[in-house]
Amino acid sequence: MIDFVSTRTPSGPGRALSEALAQGLAPDGGLYVPRAFPHLDPAIFEESTLVGRAVRLLAPFFAGDRLEGELPAIVAAAFPFGAPLREASGGGRTYRFLELFHGPTAAFKDFGARFLAECLSRNLEEETTILVATSGDTGAAVAGAFHGRPGFRVVILYPDGRVSPRQAHQLGAFGGNVETYRVSGTFDDCQAMVKAAFQAPRARTGRKLASANSISLGRLLPQMTYYADAALSCAARSNEGAHETSFVIPTGNLGNAFAAWMARALSTDTGRRLPIGTLTLATNANRMLVDYVASGEVAPAATIATLANAMDVGAPSNLERLRHFASDRAGIAAVSVDDAAIAQTIATVFRETGYAICPHTACAVAAAPADFNGVFVATAHPAKFDTIVTPICGPVAVPAGLAELLARDAHAAPLAASADALLDALRG
Ligand SMILES: *Cc1c(COP(=O)(O)O)cnc(C)c1O
Repeated sequence: MIDFVSTRTPSGPGRALSEALAQGLAPDGGLYVPRAFPHLDPAIFEESTLVGRAVRLLAPFFAGDRLEGELPAIVAAAFPFGAPLREASGGGRTYRFLELFHGPTAAFKDFGARFLAECLSRNLEEETTILVATSGDTGAAVAGAFHGRPGFRVVILYPDGRVSPRQAHQLGAFGGNVETYRVSGTFDDCQAMVKAAFQAPRARTGRKLASANSISLGRLLPQMTYYADAALSCAARSNEGAHETSFVIPTGNLGNAFAAWMARALSTDTGRRLPIGTLTLATNANRMLVDYVASGEVAPAATIATLANAMDVGAPSNLERLRHFASDRAGIAAVSVDDAAIAQTIATVFRETGYAICPHTACAVAAAPADFNGVFVATAHPAKFDTIVTPICGPVAVPAGLAELLARDAHAAPLAASADALLDALRG
């Protein structure tokens, strides 16, 4: 069995995957990581679909866990939509995008949130409240994944005025077992409130809490799968022998990019790896990761509000995982992109190719040199950020799932940016 340990006590006792999934954050405040990486199953190289590859990739992480036998069903239920590679050409240039926005809430977070929901609902012991801080897209993905699931309630905190109007509407539109709060503070305030609630005694919250933030292993692990899928698909199409695909990844809390790093770090017992090449983290003006990659110093900064708001993170929580494994920062580059470059890049790509991209995806494009021949990770559908994208590209068609949510009424209650305010709301 593979066991999972806290980044803060890596030689301490390990936990089974299901237990780590249910807990979210480790009791000592650290993040769960595998004690050692399991071997990659060489059968993954014979698979040709996202679901098939995902099952092979994740099975070693589930080995010996009580959910092991359910993994194929979990993956099939979680990812009924694909992660297609899409080319956009024009102006003498071809851009390749890995479109991760075909899930119900139109951002890549549907992959992790839906996988986590499938795992947790197969392990449910008592009524559980999923408590989640969101910089915009997580909350909707988590609410969508748990909405209407018996035994679950969802509490969402988002920074008031710092998400796009459509994101705000979407966050408040679920109702039912989903409660939404707009916090008078930043995303980092929301994250700190959630952390405090997890560390508070059960008597103070009055409910069993579980996490669905990007610190949750249940979100992190499935995010490896689309990198494996895209890299293997590109290699299969390529006529060069050992073709590796490089990715530029829009990055905020480092969940998505860390999953890519982990997928690349895996190897079979004979040393064979997935054909994943260089990884470039594209941040917005919140450049802590860029400074970390350059200097090795960790200097959390106040959050800056940007056009790519789902990446407005001053202190990315998954950095603790990267530092646990990769003290040398090898094989990672990081580039910060300002708002002017984001807007200009959306305009340039649209003018050249007619393809509209969201502001986060624009960070990835802007972070790479013009001769980059890898894949840009497209983390959200541009229609989610219409107030930014429409003035540049004109109206963008709204995907069906998003349109359905936008047609509903929305409600979010105001909440002060303090741990006590949240604890009172949870008890109330
Ligand atoms: C959450 C999000 C990101 C950042 O992902 P991390 O895992 O936090 O680094 C980028 N783009 C979009 C659209 C997002 O919703």
